[in-house]
This record gives sequence, C-alpha cells and structure tokens, in this order.
Amino acid sequence: ESLTSAGQEPEERALEAAMRPKNLDEFVGQPRVRQQLSLVLEASKLRGRVADHVLLSGPPGLGKTTLAMIVASEMQAPLRISSGPAIQNAGDLAAILSSLTEGEVLFLDEIHRLSRPAEEMLYLAMEDFRVDIVVGKGAGATAIPLELPPFTLVGATTRAGLLPAPLRDRFGFTGHLEFYSQDELELVLRRSAVMLDLTVTQAGFAQIASRSRGTPRIANRLLRRVRDWALVHGQHTIDAKAAGAALDMYEVDAKGLDRLDRAVLTALCQKFGGGPVGLSTLAIAVGEEAETVEEVAEPFLVREGLLGRTPRGRVATAASWRHLGLAAPDGAPG
Ligand code: ADP
Repeated sequence: ESLTSAGQEPEERALEAAMRPKNLDEFVGQPRVRQQLSLVLEASKLRGRVADHVLLSGPPGLGKTTLAMIVASEMQAPLRISSGPAIQNAGDLAAILSSLTEGEVLFLDEIHRLSRPAEEMLYLAMEDFRVDIVVGKGAGATAIPLELPPFTLVGATTRAGLLPAPLRDRFGFTGHLEFYSQDELELVLRRSAVMLDLTVTQAGFAQIASRSRGTPRIANRLLRRVRDWALVHGQHTIDAKAAGAALDMYEVDAKGLDRLDRAVLTALCQKFGGGPVGLSTLAIAVGEEAETVEEVAEPFLVREGLLGRTPRGRVATAASWRHLGLAAPDGAPG
C-alpha cells in the first residue's frame, strides 16, 4: 500500500478524519488561500447569500477536501461529496444537483475528469442555478428546464490548467495550494500527536516532517507508522533516532520520496540515461498513467530539484543522480 494514498482500513480513515482541521483557524499554512477564502465567506455571510463557487488546485493530500468541509461548516451548510470519475454521465450529475438543498456545498473532487456533457450541464447550474433535462431522443427531444436552489460548488483539481477555460471562469475564487514548509508540517504533526496521545521530541517531529514530501496527509500517515513502531519496540518517547529507524523500515527515504517518485527517477536515470525523455514514454516505463506521473509525482520532484521539465522532455539533474547514489554519465545535464 502506498503511503501517499488515503488509507483503505476503516481505523486509518477514522484517524484521518479525526485529524482534519475543523475551521480556518485550525488549518495550518497556506496563508494566502486561507485569508482570501475567509474574505469570500465573510462577505457572503454579510450579504446573506450563498458563497461564490470555489476552485482549489494542488497535488493530493494538501488539504482540498479539508477546505471544502471548512467552507460548509463556516457557512453552516450541509456538504455533499462526489467526484468527476464517480459521475458517469450528465444524468448522474442532474440527480445530484436536483437533490441539493438551499445553500448546500457540493464538493466535486477531480473535477477535471467530468465527462463533457456533465461539464456542460455544470456551466448552466453554476451560473443560473438551472439545469436542462433532455427528454426523448433525436428530433423529438425536448429540454425541460429545472430550477435549482442556490448552492456553492467547491471544485478540486490537481492543476487548474487542466480545466477548460469556460469552466474555470465560472468560479468566483481560485486558490492554489502549495507544498508545506518544514515548520508547517511540524505544526500539523504536533496537533496530530496530541490527538494520538504521543510523546515526540522536537527532533522527532523534525525528522518525520522532513520526510513528509511537503504533504500533511503523508505527515500524519508517517506519524501513525512511527507510533506503531514505538509501540512494538516499547519506546515511550519518540525521538529522532526512533522516528528515523521506523521510517527507514517503511522505505521512506531521507527526502520522503515514495515508491512512484523513486520509480520515475530510477527510470529516468537508468532506462533513459537521464533524458530528455517524453512524459508518455516515462509513464509507460513506470506503468502509470501520464497524468498521474505529471500531477502526482513530478510537482514534488521538480520542487526538490530532482527532475527538470524541458521542451524536449524530462531530464535528470545532478541531484537526481546523487539521490540515487549513481554517478552521472559524462555530459549529463545539470
Ligand atoms: P486533498 O483533498 O487535497 O487530497 P485532504 O484535505 O484530504 O487533501 O487532506 C489530507 C489530510 O491531511 C487530512 O486528513 C488532514 O488531516 C491533513 N491536512 C491537510 N491539510 C491540512 C492543514 N492545512 N492543516 C492540518 N492538517 C491538514
């Protein structure tokens, strides 16, 4: 099981839910998004209207779902959760939209993966709070307009650029989530440690944070793995050494690279001699969809200076070779 993905086990999921910040004040980091979102919500409360539609973009695990939940709770509105891939056709979306209550917040994860007809239905729903239900086929088909109660759409996507402009333009506010700093991750971990009733030294927090891939979800998962390790080893206080030993055992490396990150880096260096290699070729080499490599693995690798994106393709850097413990070939870029 990947440390990056949300846990499948009910206990893990329950813990993840418990660790979610409940309001904007508890939400760590992302100062700009937090401030702007707070303004949007305050203003709509003062006007007595539903909040503008909100688009959140950024890699997985950075807090998009959490923010959608916060929008609902700050607006004291119910929340409905669905996702682009879960909505097979426009009819599925119509069913969701027509059952919304006034002021409800609809969270659509992976909104860039909605089908075309569903996306077009969403335009009208977002703008006019209306959908056209098409009845019949061919020449006899008629569109029956259906009024919707005003609602707030919170859309999430790994990258805002994946959305067609007409959809992007219908959001009143777009927030881009960045990877978290070391300090911010330590703060996330401190909150979670209190909830898990763990004693962790400052150096222990620092060790876990530095391997968390800039991602709160991963920080929390690593903390739970370290907790398991400490329990089995009868270690009451988690210090840097304990945290390091535990994380080594789970094969989280010093930079926090996960299985996919390492696979991409290894393929780039060993199969393609450091590139340049095209995204789709690289994706095939690691057995993943191009989109997953581009949206999930690459942003962190690029931020860490471990991968370069050039017009001719992906290239290794001096740091990539070093990280894998390999000698860069003569004339390698970077
Ligand atoms: P996304 O929807 O972007 O994939 P989530 O909102 O599901 O990410 O966040 C994953 C987990 O990370 C949550 O359960 C929450 O505990 C934690 N988390 C995310 N962002 C923050 C934050 N800013 N502060 C504290 N915890 C956070």
